[in-house]
Amino acid sequence: MSLISKKTLVSALVGVGSVVMVSQLEAQPDPRYKIHDFSRPQPEQIDPGFVGDNQRTGKAPSDAVVLFEGANLDNWVAMDGSPTKWVVKDGIMECVPGSGYVRTLQCFGDCQLHVEWAEPEDITGSSQGRGNSGVFLGGARYEIQVLDSYNNVTYADGHAGSIYAQYPPEVLPIRKPGEWNIYDIIYVAPRFEKDGSLKSPARVTLFFNGVLVQWDKELTGPTGWLSRAPYSPHDYKQPIALQDHGNPVKFRNIWVRELGSKEKVFQYSRKYLDGLTGIYKGGMSWEIYRDGDTLYLSWPNNRNNPWKMTAESTTHFVTERTDFAFDFDDFDDEGIAQTVYWTMEGNKTKMTRQKQEKK
Ligand code: MG
Repeated sequence: MSLISKKTLVSALVGVGSVVMVSQLEAQPDPRYKIHDFSRPQPEQIDPGFVGDNQRTGKAPSDAVVLFEGANLDNWVAMDGSPTKWVVKDGIMECVPGSGYVRTLQCFGDCQLHVEWAEPEDITGSSQGRGNSGVFLGGARYEIQVLDSYNNVTYADGHAGSIYAQYPPEVLPIRKPGEWNIYDIIYVAPRFEKDGSLKSPARVTLFFNGVLVQWDKELTGPTGWLSRAPYSPHDYKQPIALQDHGNPVKFRNIWVRELGSKEKVFQYSRKYLDGLTGIYKGGMSWEIYRDGDTLYLSWPNNRNNPWKMTAESTTHFVTERTDFAFDFDDFDDEGIAQTVYWTMEGNKTKMTRQKQEKK
């Protein structure tokens, strides 16, 4: 064995631990490549970031989609797609009791999700009434419980780190109220057959403050209270949601890495999309209009041959068939964009929304 191949073998073996999760998801080695095949694409080198501890917030890996980093709630809405009433204070996102769940605009399937959370220092309530929230995957379907479980007795499958009502955490590595806890979640979305029957269930692995507390658990179905509902079919990519259970639980540094398809899917409300529509002028004119849940670009007053628009972020859309990009900006209090920047062949043009003519 040559020196090079020994080195390659050693580095491959050293790497085994860190790739186990991914290879489990892939189920089997890719048959297109031989063992140690140098034609196999290199993995992307990324900045690993920093997972954080109680004192310092973490930093996302460079290939993550950052969902909250302290500035604003641009990626978050109420479950119906309207603006959320949760607040940001000092770089921290906080649940406002009674305001409802929040969800991401972007949707995710199989993923690695990082969430940091802290309980109120002023302890009120007991059991499930103390610092209750939750991280939901698959829309508002599958809950990983967030609870002030520090010196708090409740049912085992309702503690922090539980897959609610299904699996208690192996241990409770929780920090005191006011200190920061970290969840690192590996989520495998359920798959459904064309007839809607279940092909494979959702699976969850959870590290709680770096300690493995759930290992590849198969979920029985969506989360329920005193019930075990069966699966009902849904799209592979769904929002991530955080629960309002009536307690002011805090969150910071939320990011996600997609493990399957990287295709960007967003779940907008029609009201949000309507805030992007209108006739924009700047050098020339474009009309952007909505049909169903999709935006289209056309010449003003001529919708005969429109271009479908696809979202690449909450405000960045590209057109089908031609290399145009549109960045919406200057949203008013009603969520109506006043400006769009149109990019064609690298040239960016500022366009202004025209006031609707009174009919
Ligand atoms: Mg909860």
